[in-house]
Amino acid sequence: MARHEVTVIGGGITGLAAAFELTGGARPLGEDGPKVTVLEASEHFGGKLGATTIAGVVVDAGPDGVLARRREAATLLEDLGRADLLVPIDASGASVFARGQLRPLPDGMQLGVPTSWRTLRSSHLLSTAGLLRALVDVVAPRPASRGHLQDRTIGGLVETKLGHEVVATLVDPMLGGITAGRVAEMSAAAVFPQLLEAGQERGSLMKALQGQMAAAAPPPPPDGEPRPVPPAFVTPVTGMHSIPTLLVEELTRRGVTFLADRQVTALRRRGGSDPGWSVDTDQTTTSADGVIITTPTDAAAELLRPHDVEAASLLDQTEYSSVAVVTFAFPKANLTLPTHGTGALVPPGTQHRRGPLDGRRYLTTAVTFLDRKWPHLATKEMVLLRASVGRIDDERLASLNDDEVIEIVGLELAELFGTMPAPIDVTVTRWMASLPQYRVNHLLRVGGIESAVDRLHGVEIAGAAYRGVGVPACIASGRQAAARLSELLARG
Ligand SMILES: Cc1cc2nc3c(=O)[nH]c(=O)nc-3n(C[C@H](O)[C@H](O)[C@H](O)COP(=O)(O)OP(=O)(O)OC[C@H]3O[C@@H](n4cnc5c(N)ncnc54)[C@H](O)[C@@H]3O)c2cc1C
Repeated sequence: MARHEVTVIGGGITGLAAAFELTGGARPLGEDGPKVTVLEASEHFGGKLGATTIAGVVVDAGPDGVLARRREAATLLEDLGRADLLVPIDASGASVFARGQLRPLPDGMQLGVPTSWRTLRSSHLLSTAGLLRALVDVVAPRPASRGHLQDRTIGGLVETKLGHEVVATLVDPMLGGITAGRVAEMSAAAVFPQLLEAGQERGSLMKALQGQMAAAAPPPPPDGEPRPVPPAFVTPVTGMHSIPTLLVEELTRRGVTFLADRQVTALRRRGGSDPGWSVDTDQTTTSADGVIITTPTDAAAELLRPHDVEAASLLDQTEYSSVAVVTFAFPKANLTLPTHGTGALVPPGTQHRRGPLDGRRYLTTAVTFLDRKWPHLATKEMVLLRASVGRIDDERLASLNDDEVIEIVGLELAELFGTMPAPIDVTVTRWMASLPQYRVNHLLRVGGIESAVDRLHGVEIAGAAYRGVGVPACIASGRQAAARLSELLARG
């Protein structure tokens, strides 16, 4: 029997993970597997897993690590025989800019939501009024909603229970920051289902979250010896950007065809009784028994519109935020950074308090001390620092050139940390329309997209816009789409 042909559209981590699974995953299928082609619009494979060179050091310019409790990236590296590459994060904690200065985040939070009023009080993050409002959750908890809701906004839910200041100072910078979004619009069911569950209870939100944490904690060891705390984040010592390189090398050995600079412009049915597809780019037409679309939703919508208007219009509703990563190398001498943690968060409402930008909102949303977080990046002479800028409700990035971004971020770093020395080097990496926003009822919409795509025999859709933005979720999404398609093709 002739080998099946499968085309993967989009060569980001989702598409590469899909190609890996199609060719057998940990156990390569060789000639027994399908012939796979990956079509990528840009010049390189990896999508958001990009790199930049700063003062001669290659560092990640997109994701720089993954949540350790999500195992998909570690499993992928194991399947590639490179589990040895993973290293744990070396520091913990972070600061947040609150009430005029940087202050350490309290311990024991769940994705930015505090679980103890006493810890919140000793953090000195909130005003007296904000602290008293949060106390209501302990002494006279507010019911979050009448009855069971399928979804709520994270911001609305936490505000009802703990007050606005907790949302503005903690939840928005931490949880909103992950996708450069705002929690006032973010889906609890899609992003933080445990919060939705805890928020449905009549009593205290903080107590309900504490209960969940206790239930999820491993039982104490019988010998009573304290267990080492597992790291929260891990990364390959060669950088996240090395994962696509490893995948492309392995997949090339498996015979996968990689075509860069090939923007897919149309998906056509082969016609007649033939259930297959033709995939067009400006330069090529590829014939396929199965197709996996892993592009952002705008491109996916255009490809699917002729075949299913409902899928296309649901895809059209996805909004993306634009961000930039500004990576600095500073000389170590004369630099006064907080001694605590891996970085600092800047709440959305933070304004400049002096200088030429007095009264304007901060462009910077977060700062990461890269070489403290990842010790393999540490050198004797310099500090590597990365500022994230841009948010869904802040469009200034599009109208600022790189020099202007660097100047504004430089002023903001000096306000946050004190006088900064002139950088040895600095780069700006823009990621326009890069982070999908999971708005309230996101999962309903995704369910609609998935069932519409299901009706198109031989097409799968996967990627960051659906069931998780993080790299592990994208790997899972790509591999699962590939497994479904392989099963379908095997059934004939
Ligand atoms: C700045 C930043 C920091 C992040 N930090 C983290 C982090 O620390 N940890 C974490 O887990 N996640 C992080 N993320 C999220 C994560 O990196 C992304 O969600 C994930 O990499 C998306 O992968 P993807 O393959 O689904 O999409 P993409 O990487 O966007 O890949 C899609 C590919 O499709 C291609 N394409 C588009 N249109 C077409 C077309 N018509 N034809 C062919 N190809 C097309 C694109 O060129 C692209 O290469 C971060 C994201 C950003 C932007």
